[in-house]
This record gives sequence, C-alpha cells and structure tokens, in this order.
Amino acid sequence: MSRPLRIVMLGPPGSGKGTRAHIISELYGIPVITTGDMLREAVAKGTEYGKIAGGYMSRGELVPDEIVNGVVGERLSMSDLENGFILDGFPRSAPQAEFLDSFLEEHGLKLDHVIYVTLDDEAIVKRLSNRRSCPSCGEVYHLVSMPPKKEGVCDKCGSELVLRDDDRPSVIRNRLEVYREKTQPLLKKYRDKGLMREVPGDYPLDQLQEQLKRILG
Ligand code: ADP
Repeated sequence: MSRPLRIVMLGPPGSGKGTRAHIISELYGIPVITTGDMLREAVAKGTEYGKIAGGYMSRGELVPDEIVNGVVGERLSMSDLENGFILDGFPRSAPQAEFLDSFLEEHGLKLDHVIYVTLDDEAIVKRLSNRRSCPSCGEVYHLVSMPPKKEGVCDKCGSELVLRDDDRPSVIRNRLEVYREKTQPLLKKYRDKGLMREVPGDYPLDQLQEQLKRILG
C-alpha cells in the first residue's frame, strides 16, 4: 500500500478548495474533512454547537476556535484516516493551526502538502454569487459553468438548490476580509515549512486531475 497522504487545502472562500479536495479524495482514496459542511450539519440538526455556530456563519465570520478545534479533533480521531486525510476549510486561524500542529505531533503524524488555491476577489464574488448548493447532500453547482441538469434541482439527490446565506455579495465581502486578516497569515508558516504548493483557482476543470497528480506525485 502507498504511504498515507495528509493534506491541507488553503485559499480564499470560493477559490475551489472543495472541488480540488474531492478530486484528490477520489484519486488517492482518502476522506475529505470539510469543516463548513460539518458546521452546516450541526446548524441544521440544531445541536448545541450548531446553535452557536449559525450566527457566525451567516455573518461570514469565523466560528470560535474552541468549537471548530473540538469538532475537528473528534473527526481526526476516527479510525477511517489510516490512508490520510484532506482538510478542507481548516485551519483558518493561528490558534487552529497550532491545534493541528499539536494534534499531529501527539499522534506522531506529519502534513505532506498544503495546497494553496489562489483567485482574485472579483472572480470570487462572481463565482460565489452564481453558486447554488444542495442543502441535503452538499453538492455545489455554478449557474453558468456547472449548472444542474434540471434548473434548481440537485442532480445527485433531487433536493431543491439554494443560494447559501453567506454567498450573498455583502457577506462575501466580509468573508474575504476575515480571510485576509485571520487565514492569510498562515501562508507564511506553511511556506517556511516547505509544504506549500500553489495552484491557480481558475485552472481548466478538465485538467485538474492531471495537475493535482503532478503536484502530489
Ligand atoms: P468557504 O470556504 O466557501 O468560505 P465554507 O463552507 O468552508 O465556505 O465555510 C462557511 C463558513 O463556515 C465560514 O464562513 C465560517 O463561518 C464557518 N467555518 C468553516 N470552517 C471554519 C473554520 N475552520 N473556523 C471557523 N469557522 C469556519
């Protein structure tokens, strides 16, 4: 068996981290851990954490580190990660990055790659406001470049697609600010560790597989 791969996806909201994470997941057979989806699920279920997280999310702010670290720590302790994992949307702040470092160290594990997906603000706003998401299965579509087969309906599970609250232009601006203030500083840390692999967020979709294979070897 090939050695485990542990990957962090970094980049602004809407840059295409999730799309790439899922391609890598299929190529190498490793699970994606998407904090945004986990938090949205907690909100939908109305759990104790979900009730707190919901407000932060609809404003485009980060959910407090203690909550997210707790959720991720629990997920990283599960037994299906022997081939590695792809963290999509975590870490997003210095305390989260420290939490990840200590978790990995305690378990004798190391990150292999940090994939940094870049995209400029204008393209992000355009992309996110055209994004439609499935509230049931999490599948995402784009009204222009990746529309569902039937308008407004998820191809995968038939649910009605929605514009996420936080994909409204006013909230997108706030998410970009938060990204710049809290998440962007992590780039230096991973660059200094020699883990950073930078990829453009507007690379042609049909060439993503080949590109990611080249990067990950
Ligand atoms: P995107 O990457 O497009 O911003 P996500 O689905 O990853 O969207 O995140 C949606 C929201 O969930 C974020 O704006 C934030 O409120 C919350 N969230 C997700 N991941 C984290 C995290 N690691 N720390 C704090 N909040 C998070």
